Amino acid sequence: MGYYGGYGRYGGYYGFDWTYLLVIVGVIITAIASSHVTSVYKRYAEIRAASGLTGAQTAAEILRRNGITDVTIQHVPGSLTDHYNPAKKVVNLSDAVYGQTSVAAIGVAAHECGHVIQHHRGYVPLSIRTALVPIANIGSNLGIWIVIASIILGLSGTLTTIGVVLFSFGTLFQIVTLPVEFNASNRALTMLRDYGILGMDEEKKARAVLRAAAMTYVAAAASSLLQLVRLLTIANGRRRR
Ligand SMILES: [Zn+2]
Repeated sequence: MGYYGGYGRYGGYYGFDWTYLLVIVGVIITAIASSHVTSVYKRYAEIRAASGLTGAQTAAEILRRNGITDVTIQHVPGSLTDHYNPAKKVVNLSDAVYGQTSVAAIGVAAHECGHVIQHHRGYVPLSIRTALVPIANIGSNLGIWIVIASIILGLSGTLTTIGVVLFSFGTLFQIVTLPVEFNASNRALTMLRDYGILGMDEEKKARAVLRAAAMTYVAAAASSLLQLVRLLTIANGRRRR
């Protein structure tokens, strides 16, 4: 018996654990957000910006304008793998960004520089997010398994609670990521406009790309929250037994 045997108790459909529907909803919204960003990126990757700057040149220009000299810009393989590594102080730009002159590439490069500036100026949500990384990594993976294992093996309820609390750090991380991402995009678009890197019409296109990218973080936070609700429901159902 154990975990799977408990399904009926949660008022499941056809003897199916209804809480699993929360996970499915999370998977669906994540898939929608991810295919949306891919299609928006593809559309604006074909529109060349008038400035003729590549993603890498855009990043270099933004860093120069902000007097940041200790951050390097690197090319990483893959698509949508762009990120800023604050520990190494490296802006990593992907194939579709580094050497490309599209409004999409320029938008993403500027967004990563938005993170550099957050780091440079001690933007608090970024510090919180960075501090949460280790526990969030452990929590979002191990937390679920602790909850499920503690129920299947009939271990103590305290262990179930520990699993839920661990997992909640992963959810917190996803939520703190949201202001960090939106702020980086806002900084990026302001700089692209102010520095004359993109014209008004081009900036709107870059904005559409960054908004689509931000939606993937919203979807990730929402699915993490749904998974947390699921674990809380399972843990609660167990407590009442
Ligand atoms: Zn970002």
